[in-house]
Formats: sequence, C-alpha cells, structure tokens
Amino acid sequence: MAEKHFKYVILGGGVAAGYAAREFAKQGINKGELAIISKEAVAPYERPALSKGYLFPQGAARLPGFHTCVGSGGERLLPEWYEEKGIELILSTEIVKADLSSKSLTSAAGSTFTYDILIIATGSSVIKLTDFGVQGADANNILYLREIDDADKLVAAIQAKKDGKAVIVGGGYIGLELSAVLRLNNLDVTMVYPEPWCMPRLFTAGIAAFYEGYYANKGVKIVKGTVAVGFDSDSNGDVTAVKLKDGRVLDADIVVVGVGGRPLTSLFKGQLAEEKGGIKTDAFFQTSVPGVYAVGDVATFPMMLYGDLRRVEHVDHSRKSAEQAVKAIKASEEGKSVEEYDYLPYFYSRSFDLAWQFYGDNVGDTVLFGDNDPASAKPKFGSYWIKDGKIFGAFLEGGSADENNAIAKVARVQPAVSDLNVLTQEGLQFAAKI
Ligand code: FAD
Repeated sequence: MAEKHFKYVILGGGVAAGYAAREFAKQGINKGELAIISKEAVAPYERPALSKGYLFPQGAARLPGFHTCVGSGGERLLPEWYEEKGIELILSTEIVKADLSSKSLTSAAGSTFTYDILIIATGSSVIKLTDFGVQGADANNILYLREIDDADKLVAAIQAKKDGKAVIVGGGYIGLELSAVLRLNNLDVTMVYPEPWCMPRLFTAGIAAFYEGYYANKGVKIVKGTVAVGFDSDSNGDVTAVKLKDGRVLDADIVVVGVGGRPLTSLFKGQLAEEKGGIKTDAFFQTSVPGVYAVGDVATFPMMLYGDLRRVEHVDHSRKSAEQAVKAIKASEEGKSVEEYDYLPYFYSRSFDLAWQFYGDNVGDTVLFGDNDPASAKPKFGSYWIKDGKIFGAFLEGGSADENNAIAKVARVQPAVSDLNVLTQEGLQFAAKI
C-alpha cells in the first residue's frame, strides 16, 4: 500500500484543522509540506452550524457556505484554497492506527502516512445509548449529531416525518438547540432529561427557568427528572415510542439524543500522557512526545487564568488552540518562542430568537440580574459568578456586541465585589464600568 510523507500532518479535519491550516499559510509553508487527514468527506467547516442554520426549514446553511474560518468573521477556506496553498486534503480517510515511535499513521484502507510533526485534532465522538445497551436504541430514526453526515440524516428524517413527533433526549446545549430547530420545522417536540433543570453544568436554576419558560411558550414540552430506558419500533424498524424510567411512554417519529461526547484519544492510548480524559499538553499544545501536538476538544492544557489543567469542548478554544500550536511550531523552527496560551473560557449558544454568551468560570455564588421574563418582547438578563469576593464568570442573554465584550472583560479582570445586592441591582451597568 501507498506510503506518503509530509513535514506536517493534522489528524482530523474539523474546526481546529481549518484554523491551523490558515495559520500555517499565514506563517508560510511550502507546497506539499502540510496534509490534513479527515474521516469526513468535506473540507474543514464550522461545526456549530450543524445544530443551527443547517436544520432551518427555510434558507438552510449548506456547504460551501460555512467552511472555516467564516464563523469568526475570517476568510472562507474553500477546497480550492487548500489546493492553491499546496495543502493536501486527504478526505474520507479514517486513521485506525497511530505509531508515534515510527511517526506513522495507518488508514482503514491500509495507506501509511509519515510525518515530522503531528497535530492531533480528532475532536469528540458522541456518547450513544447503544453504548449502554439501552433496549431498542438501535431503531431507525434514533439520531445523534456530530458530523455533517449525521446532520444530513436528521434533515432526511425531518422530511420523512413531516409534522410528526420528536423526542429530544438530553437537556444540554445540543438538546436545547435541536428542540428549537425541530420546533421551527413544525414537529411536536418533547425534551426529556434527568436533571432538575436544563444545562445544569452551566445554568443556574434562575437562568434555566427563563429558557424552560421560553421553550414552553414556543410549544416545546419538557419532561424532567427521568431518563429514556427503552424504545419501541414498528415492523420497518422505525422508532415509534420512548419508554421512560418513570413509566411514561412518549410517542416518537424521531428521537435525537444529545447526552454528551468523549474526546477521541484512543489511537494514542499508552503513547502519550493523559489528564482529565484528554491528551496532556503544555501551554504551546505540545504533548509528552516532542513534535506531537494536540489541540481542540482532545487537549488538556494549562489554564493560566485559574492555575489548573482543563479540557474545553468549545469552538472558540478549538480555533485559538490550533493557532497557538502552529505559531509555536513555526517559532521553534526559528529557535524562537511564543507567549504561553492564556485562555479566557468562552462559550455561546443560539436558539429561536435567543443568543447567550458565557465567559470565565462558573464557580461560587451567583446573582441574577435584568429582565428574565420569558414572555418579554426583548428579554435581556444575565448572571455573575462570585468566588472569594471576585467575579469569576459572567453570562448574558440578548446582549449587544459591546455588552458581550463588557462581560468578557469582567470575567478576565475579575473585579472585587463587596455587596451582592448592589451587584444584582447594577447588573450590566457594573460590567460597563470595568
Ligand atoms: P472537530 O471539529 O470535531 O473535528 C474533529 C475531526 O476529526 C472531524 O472531522 C473527525 O471526523 C475527524 N477525526 C476524528 N477521528 C479521526 C480519525 N481516526 N481519522 C480521521 N479523522 C478523524 N461550541 C460552541 O462553543 N458553541 C456552539 O454553539 C457549538 N455548537 C456545536 C454544535 C454541534 C452540533 C457540535 C457537534 C458541536 C458544537 N460546539 C459548539 C462544539 C465545537 O464544535 C467543538 O468544540 C469543536 O468543533 C472542536 O473542534 P475540533 O477540531 O477539536 O474537533
């Protein structure tokens, strides 16, 4: 079988790969030096579009519209761009073996790729209910969403089950975004999750009450405090119902499961140091093996702001970590160095007419401010997280660009607060003064 050598290989063709490629081009590479190897059949794209614009009933986003780097306002890198730059896109190619000692990767079809420098950007895979042997979970139309192929299956199911019933399993951001977009497609939508409120990893009860109320007003039904324990299907194998642990049964033509992801690190087990479920890196995203870097969802890196090691599964970090790694690689070739990665966590979501942003760390006490009435014409509200008398995290729904910048600054600067009542009253005004 064929063997090909590249100076740089990016393994994975998602968000981080696209931003890394752009940074390589910016820093200067020769034609034929860089390859991106991806299981997916398309050039790197902005993955968040899959749970939003891609599923809209009208004016849906389609490639080439959302190739990286449009999501951050940058140039859209079409397949022709890679060709012009002499960057090889090796698509529809799954790597099934990685041998870091011989610096080689082997594909499912048996091809071998060798490299001098490797950037691991394999992202995450979704957790499936079949992983836990949930009864009937292999029925047709029980769907997941990670890659564009998954999104196409969802589009086909929405077409096939017009005006039907959808059950969304999971109350995280995927569950919330998909419930909204399926509702916009006129499906009868029910969300099911075990926790007392949605997005419990980030939302406080006060924040969640707004979204649950807003979704209810849009006709989304919410069933909390229970889980799916089985599925019924018809003679074609199509799902017909979701059986809940509390004994209830929900009719369903489509089920979408969003119960979390796992970083795809298994190719490197035993070959690289790991930490907190990811591949351990330094502040330049270099792993325990020199010349091997890990970026995006798979990297567990030093979070300078909080003095610990973290893994972050958000698009902003995947972009910035990719750029940092490439800058560090190119600088080290010239015997130079770059500044350590100093990341402020940033995460956002959009659904219906809503859009929120969160910056920082959600630790400590919280205050809720603003208009969080789900029936308001233009709700705008937020929360601060306060630890050791300082603001660590800030959340804002419905903010303008300037207001979002203001809460980002608060989370970065960590101003002291003495009186939480005053902070609640000042709300966004507090951020505007920082
Ligand atoms: P990915 O973008 O997942 O790319 C990984 C790539 O590696 C894929 O192309 C995959 O096929 C490939 N790959 C994996 N293993 C192999 C292999 N063995 N061989 C070859 N190729 C391989 N974050 C936000 O902050 N806000 C949002 O609104 C938001 N929305 C999202 C919506 C959806 C539907 C999803 C799935 C994620 C969303 N995220 C969001 C998270 C964000 O998209 C990820 O954090 C980001 O994509 C991570 O980038 P990455 O490059 O590390 O991984």
